[in-house]
This record gives sequence, structure tokens and C-alpha cells, in this order.
Amino acid sequence: MGENFLMNTNTWKHIVVSFINTIGDVAKGTFYRAGLETGREFVKNYKINEKNLDKVNEIFSQMNWGKIKIDLKKLHIVIDNSFEAKAIEKSKECSCYFLKGFVAGLLSTILNKDLKAEEVKCKSKGDKYCEFKLSKTAEWYERVSKILEEV
Ligand SMILES: [Zn+2]
Repeated sequence: MGENFLMNTNTWKHIVVSFINTIGDVAKGTFYRAGLETGREFVKNYKINEKNLDKVNEIFSQMNWGKIKIDLKKLHIVIDNSFEAKAIEKSKECSCYFLKGFVAGLLSTILNKDLKAEEVKCKSKGDKYCEFKLSKTAEWYERVSKILEEV
């Protein structure tokens, strides 16, 4: 299950910024991937299911990751005071790359569906909180292939 350890938000910022400066924007996808795996493991390790979602927020506050609100029906997640947004402080774009992957892994595993996440609001961008919308990857591929057929 691994062990928890404390990390300063400045350390997270150095990790993210160093990765992006070294390998470019592809680093953002790497953080998403790492978040996805962590989200999947989180559900298994803490035995999260549709009925005990409050546990996710309890663990989030213990780890100082922020306050998370999950709407399973709408595939919608809000995180107040995300540690990633706090770390990045100011950005022109949504910058919770890890948490975006994390919520995708979290809900994909709980619902046993293949979901992808988009961050539509981010505190680092000046929004009040971070907001994530999830959708089925299959639907997304269908939409893209329809568009490509029409071209
Ligand atoms: Zn954010």
C-alpha cells in the first residue's frame, strides 16, 4: 500500500516545473498518467465504493490535498484548495495535471468504466475552485471518429 509522507507545495512546484522544462508539455500527460494509477490504487487500498464516498474527502483532508466533492451521477468533481493549484499558484491554464488523472482513475475504478477527465476550472487560473468533468473515453473516440468521417 505504500506509506504517506509530507511534501511542501514548493517541492511539488519544482517537480512539475522541472519536468515541463526538461521534456515539454508531454510532462503534463505523464502527471495525468501517474494520477490515474494513483486514483485506481486509492480505490482498492481504501476500499472506496459508491456508498462510502465521504471517505475520499476524509483522506483528502488528512493528506491536505483539498476538499473534494464527488457527483457520481453527473460525473462531476469539485476540489477546493487543491494542493496542486496551491503549488503552482498562478497559471494561464488549468494546472492540476496529477489530480485530473487521479479523479479519472478514482471514478473509472468505482464505476468500472473507462473515463477520462478534463479540468474546466482551476484555482491557479483565478477560478474559485478546481472543477473536473469526466466522460467515457469510448464516447469521445466515437465523437472524434464521426468528425473525422465528415471531413
Ligand atoms: Zn486546479
